[in-house]
This record gives sequence, structure tokens and C-alpha cells, in this order.
Amino acid sequence: MVFMQYIIFDLEWNNGNRPIKGSFFDEIIEIGAVRLDERLNPVDTFSRLIKPTANLRLSSLVKRLTHINKDELSNAKHFKPVYADFLKWCGLAETTVVTWSTMDIQVLLKNLVFHKMGDALEFMHHFADVQQFVREKLGLDAGRSPGLSAAAEILGIKCDDMDMHRALDDAIVTAKCLKSAYNEDFLSFIKPADSDFYKRLAFKAKVIFDYDNRLIKKSLMVPSCPCCGLMLKRSSAFTPRSKAFDASFFCGGCDTHFNGRVRVKQEYDGIVYIKKLNEL
Ligand SMILES: [Zn+2]
Repeated sequence: MVFMQYIIFDLEWNNGNRPIKGSFFDEIIEIGAVRLDERLNPVDTFSRLIKPTANLRLSSLVKRLTHINKDELSNAKHFKPVYADFLKWCGLAETTVVTWSTMDIQVLLKNLVFHKMGDALEFMHHFADVQQFVREKLGLDAGRSPGLSAAAEILGIKCDDMDMHRALDDAIVTAKCLKSAYNEDFLSFIKPADSDFYKRLAFKAKVIFDYDNRLIKKSLMVPSCPCCGLMLKRSSAFTPRSKAFDASFFCGGCDTHFNGRVRVKQEYDGIVYIKKLNEL
């Protein structure tokens, strides 16, 4: 049997107050991680500060949230040697990386590219997003992704003695959220970290608000009745408004009129229609 481990990591970064080569660079200043065994028990931790090279001034937001100061950072090692230590700590076991949302993965990739150290996380064989798992478990819809502290509170995890917004403690709280919410469904959230994973990560969802765009299937823009489930009849033209389309609808079954708004998004897996209705 293959030895399997989970690694949960979290980063703090300095979102610089001046652009570098035209864009703001989220420079990592701390890596924290927890290794979990197959039963999700913590077995080891990793915690390092990183001396910045691109932007030596910490933003006031970062200072306030993390309480990391300039002196601590100037005594730390640079990104390259710290990342090398992190890879060594991760080891060679089959690793499922677990993070809270995909944000930290994206920031780590950006830092690797910035330092010309490749464009993939070599220690990661599989990936799972705990935020997505917890959100679905709590029955929240896609637009309402809970923050880590909020989710921990809902799950009844005490964070009073934790240093939230510090990498190691955030990784530990993420691990506790996973353990608390865990059931077998989690296994279906684990995806291979293959080329498709990186393409999906880099994909930026776009809102389509040009009614004549050929990607839009008009028949899929019509909502069904929230009361009886019948397909509604559209009783006015679609009018573009705030990057969405408004129209009136009617349910013959319930004899009810609705105002509707349909937002069309191009996501990695295809076109998504987000439909909202207000009864009149
Ligand atoms: Zn109806």
C-alpha cells in the first residue's frame, strides 16, 4: 500500500502598495503547514517567515492582520531557501494538498514564477479545497463562501487561543475544520493535480452580457417555477442590465407572474446560467 499524507498549508503575503512591472505582486512572507496522517491526525508542523525581495515595505493591512514586523522579516531567509526547506519537509510520500480555497495555491504559483522556480507544485499529487467541501456541507450556495474564522465558528471550533491570520495557526484551524466536517463525501473533492487542474486554476470565469453572443443558449435562460417546477413562459423581451438580463415570466400552472434576472457566466466547464426570480 502507498503511504499517503495530507499537507495543509497556509501563506501570509504582502500585497505591495506599489506595482511591480505593472501589476501588484503578492509576495509571500510566511509559510505554515500541518502534516496529517490518513486519519487526519496532525503529526508534524512547518512554520517559517520569509524575507521579502520585491517589496520591503509591509502594507498597513498586513501589519495589522498578521502583527509580523520588519525586524522579524529581515532576520528570516529568502523565499528560495525556505521553499527548499518546505519541499524537504513535505518529503516524497503520496501527498494530497488541502487548502482553504485555491487562493494560497495561486499565490504560491505566482511566487514560484516570479523567482523562476517553475510553474507547478512538485510536492502536490492531489488537491482538495476544504472551503468548497465545508460550504457544500453547510448547504451554502456558490456565491457564499465562508471565511475560515466564520466556518470555524459555525463548526464549533474554538479559536480564542489561536493567532488567526498567521500561517501555521490558519493551517491548524483549516485542519480542524476538515476533521470536524469530514465524512466520506470529502474523498470526491480530492482531484489529481494534473495539467487540467492547473488549467482550471488559471481559468478566469467571464460574465457574458452580450445577448447576441453565440455561446448563449436562449432556451436555457428560462427559469422553472419555484412553486410547481413547470418551465415558465417569458412574457417580455430580455433587457440587458448590470451585466445580466432581466425579463418577466409567467407560470400557467400557478397563474403567477415573476420578474427574473439571468446572469450568464462562462466557466471552465462551460456556460452557467444563474437565475433569480421575484414573485409579483
Ligand atoms: Zn408554477
